[in-house]
Amino acid sequence: MMKDLIRINEPIIGEEEVRAVAEVLQSGILTDKSGMGPRVIEFERRFAEYTGAKYAVAVSSGTAALHAALLAAGVGLGDEVIIPSFTFSATAEAVVLAGAKPVFADIDEATYTITLESVEEVLSRKTKAIIPVDLYGLPADIDPILEMAEKRDIYVIEDAAQSLGASYKDRHVGGVAHQTCFSFYASKHLTTGEGGMVTTNDDYLAEALRMIRTHGESKPYWVERLGHNYRMTEMQAAIGVIQLQRLPKNVERRRENAAILTEKLEKTKKLILPFETEDRRHAWHLYTVRVKGANKGRRNKIIEYLRSRRVSAAAYYPTPVHLLPYYRRMADSVRGALTNTEKASSQVISLPVHPRVTPDDLDYIAKTLKKSLTK
Ligand SMILES: *Cc1c(COP(=O)(O)O)cnc(C)c1O
Repeated sequence: MMKDLIRINEPIIGEEEVRAVAEVLQSGILTDKSGMGPRVIEFERRFAEYTGAKYAVAVSSGTAALHAALLAAGVGLGDEVIIPSFTFSATAEAVVLAGAKPVFADIDEATYTITLESVEEVLSRKTKAIIPVDLYGLPADIDPILEMAEKRDIYVIEDAAQSLGASYKDRHVGGVAHQTCFSFYASKHLTTGEGGMVTTNDDYLAEALRMIRTHGESKPYWVERLGHNYRMTEMQAAIGVIQLQRLPKNVERRRENAAILTEKLEKTKKLILPFETEDRRHAWHLYTVRVKGANKGRRNKIIEYLRSRRVSAAAYYPTPVHLLPYYRRMADSVRGALTNTEKASSQVISLPVHPRVTPDDLDYIAKTLKKSLTK
């Protein structure tokens, strides 16, 4: 029997979302000029409650969340922002959009996240913010970075676009860094089609974020700072409220699926498997394995093999940001060797563990992957 394609991630939308959007459309309130319509306010309240943050500010995308967070932190021309190069390009893009320069820190080989040590290697007097990215859903070890940053008046903005539902030292991601940015793009844990959120515990930052979301206005048509139109629509927020109710169960499904894959793959000597630690719970956006000793060509062959057998595996991300044509031109963005970053980008393979993946699928994924390694 021909197997259906097992997608790497897919949105899970039920009747309730359909009904909620229909209700918004019928109500006639599609958005609000301050960005604070009734559904947005409800979504923000529930999101803050879930993450344990004091404030949540809804915006139009994860990229908008990052850009708004940088603007709220006062990042601008002449400033440097330390970020990993092993991330989706939007992390770097937001820095450039804020007028600042991205400076790339290397990742830790085991967790794919930047660390205090790698950040300190590229720190300068111009460093104004640091953006650790919780790649694949595993939170970066943020406390040591926060402690160093607070001594130097540097803001820590966590890119949690992939880690909603993860936790760090028994706190949900979202209540830990100075600001935390989430994405509700269609492939993420919680989706509103497009959408994003910034959480913070800081009164000043929350107020700044609300202004930035709607043209820097503190009241209608009264512009106090540079902003943008980053408002979330009422349709998006209505979907978000329902998606959030399903989130804990879906994260649990991902965790179970990841555990099953680990059990099936742990004896495979050619692979390094993902893991969580005592104090860092993974959100399992992706289950990313590493092929020991592989170069890019070999890794790509394995992905091709999996895809030809209807397992949609992928390399996230095949090119580190500092080697992309646009970023390659930036002088001084690369200060040291990004050895772990470049090696990881040629060896990683991400596999699906989303809630729609069945035990049968997991069995098939593991078998197909093992077979591909013998080729
Ligand atoms: C998805 C993602 C973003 C961007 O979010 P959008 O909602 O697509 O704008 C930023 N950073 C990371 C790590 C992401 O995975």
